[in-house]
Amino acid sequence: MSDSQNSQSEYSAKYEPVVEHVYNPNECKYCWSTPAKKITFSQQWVGSGYDNLFTFLFDRLIGWPEIRSSEGPYCRSCATATFRDMVDGTCKTGWWGLIAFVSNIAVLLGNFLSWRQIQQLTEPHRNPREAYPDFVRPLAPGDNLVSRGGIWLGIAVILLVTVVLVLLFSVV
Ligand SMILES: [Zn+2]
Repeated sequence: MSDSQNSQSEYSAKYEPVVEHVYNPNECKYCWSTPAKKITFSQQWVGSGYDNLFTFLFDRLIGWPEIRSSEGPYCRSCATATFRDMVDGTCKTGWWGLIAFVSNIAVLLGNFLSWRQIQQLTEPHRNPREAYPDFVRPLAPGDNLVSRGGIWLGIAVILLVTVVLVLLFSVV
């Protein structure tokens, strides 16, 4: 065995993971990294697939939208991935009703408050001396919001509603 191989195996013996990591509730729920923080993200959508026009109109005018929330602990990476998914989804599916429109703005504001909490987290890390199961991985952060499309749809909807309201009030 050459010197370099020898030192390599000594290195491995010294630093390769020796213990199975056991999850504790201070770690990110997806990748088991720290630091992680309890942060909640929400997505709203208005139902689709109606039996008839009446149920469609009922849902759009006075129906409550559905909101799904997901609570951490999240590390910085997994929080970013979840934030992007939920804001993009909310911007695409959440506007389409009277109550839903107002509630959608509240859901988006809540998500942006949560985003501010992500900024307080430093890069996630794990214990290099411990082994983690294969399925425990950080969520892929994916494309940023600007390139996903939902945010532009959201801005367009808000502008359109603003213009319609201004026109209505200028007529009255
Ligand atoms: Zn994570």
